Amino acid sequence: MKHVIIGNGPAGVVAAETLRKCGPDAVITLIGDEPEPPYSRMALPYLMMGNIGEPGTYLRKSGDHYAGLRIDLVQDRVTGVDTAARAVALASGGSLAYDRLLIATGSHPVQPPIPGMDLPGVHACWTMADARSIIARAAPGSRVVQVGAGFIGCIIMEALVSRGVRLAVVEMGDRMVPRMMTPVAGTMIRTWCESKGVGVHVNARVATIRRAAGGDALVATLASGAALEADLVIVAAGVRPNVAFLQGGAVACATGILVDATMQTSVPGVYAAGDVAEVLDFSTGGRSLNAIQPNAVEQARIAAFNMAGRHVESRGYLALNVLDTLGLISSSFGQWGGVPGGETAELIDEGAHRYLCLQFKGDVLVGATAIGLTEHVGVLRGLIEGRVKLGPWKDRLLQEPLLVMDAYLARAQAAA
Ligand SMILES: Cc1cc2nc3c(=O)[nH]c(=O)nc-3n(C[C@H](O)[C@H](O)[C@H](O)COP(=O)(O)OP(=O)(O)OC[C@H]3O[C@@H](n4cnc5c(N)ncnc54)[C@H](O)[C@@H]3O)c2cc1C
Repeated sequence: MKHVIIGNGPAGVVAAETLRKCGPDAVITLIGDEPEPPYSRMALPYLMMGNIGEPGTYLRKSGDHYAGLRIDLVQDRVTGVDTAARAVALASGGSLAYDRLLIATGSHPVQPPIPGMDLPGVHACWTMADARSIIARAAPGSRVVQVGAGFIGCIIMEALVSRGVRLAVVEMGDRMVPRMMTPVAGTMIRTWCESKGVGVHVNARVATIRRAAGGDALVATLASGAALEADLVIVAAGVRPNVAFLQGGAVACATGILVDATMQTSVPGVYAAGDVAEVLDFSTGGRSLNAIQPNAVEQARIAAFNMAGRHVESRGYLALNVLDTLGLISSSFGQWGGVPGGETAELIDEGAHRYLCLQFKGDVLVGATAIGLTEHVGVLRGLIEGRVKLGPWKDRLLQEPLLVMDAYLARAQAAA
């Protein structure tokens, strides 16, 4: 059995290892287009903070790990997939035949259509190469403008601030992390960042980036006309799945690659996992992207088992994000924005930087947003994933949302 895996991030690596465990005789080829050994993007902030060196980001630390497992690592770019001939085309020329194919190509940062995006000193924060460029420019006292305050934008702020830069963040939405946090929570995160010395511009858009007269510095001009001088501009304006090489082919895509519960695509024998896959959504029953590493790894394992001939199904993914923004921990779960006809309970304690918002459908908790309540993360997840019927506890939670732990013990644990 010849297994070909496109993409050597966490999903690709875990799939290759799982395939080896399932089949000692299988031929396994792992193709990646970046020049480094397989590494973890989520370790890049630690690299930028100086907590680890580049080898600390590598997914597997021993140099002969892949050779030892007889996983053939190929550095190349896949330019197309011929599902009829069961072969992938390589940028270097030639092609590779497969019996089973896994597409684990991840996603790429969106480049907003801003004039000046191609100037030296404007970078995404996505690859090892990006991290090296940021480290070179983000010296103590240098001015950094970050475009976007979403999930990745908030994660990298800590690394930037720890480098002693003067940071200004520009976000188009009316609050920080608008696609993950309620208006109250996003505004609380903004206040927290401002108290740490970060300039936050919401409802704001960078219109142009240009070089300042007579020097290396950049000027980011906002739509309002305000001008922000910068030594470095970091673009964190969202990501899109890497599917361009599948265009015109048989593998069905929406934004990402559509997969079923076994991670198989519309083409039998072709699977997808990780950031590139649109997977079964636990809350809605539809398909959605949920680009976080734990999901990528679990999907890769499920795909690999099925590629190896075992039948394993995912029960769907609950949207779950936990975010550390300059030390303020926030989290959002499932249908955090609420559902039609549902009920909402909201507790706001700005002084203590604590917040809890619960969303109910009938007597079932279907979504939540929290700030500063790390001890409740497991309980909120348990209530939502378990679709626990809260009965009379629903009304108590509407009055006192912080009773979630008691509700869990009474309704979920007692039932179990
Ligand atoms: C700065 C940063 C911080 C993050 N922090 C967190 C965090 O705290 N928690 C969390 O859960 N997630 C975090 N993430 C997200 C996490 O890194 C991704 O969810 C994870 O990397 C997805 O793994 P993947 O294997 O699907 O894709 P990737 O890791 O993107 O790997 C895909 C690989 O495929 C390669 N590839 C793409 N197209 C081709 C092609 N045509 N041919 C050959 N190779 C190709 C890519 O170059 C890449 O190397 C963070 C991401 C970033 C950038």
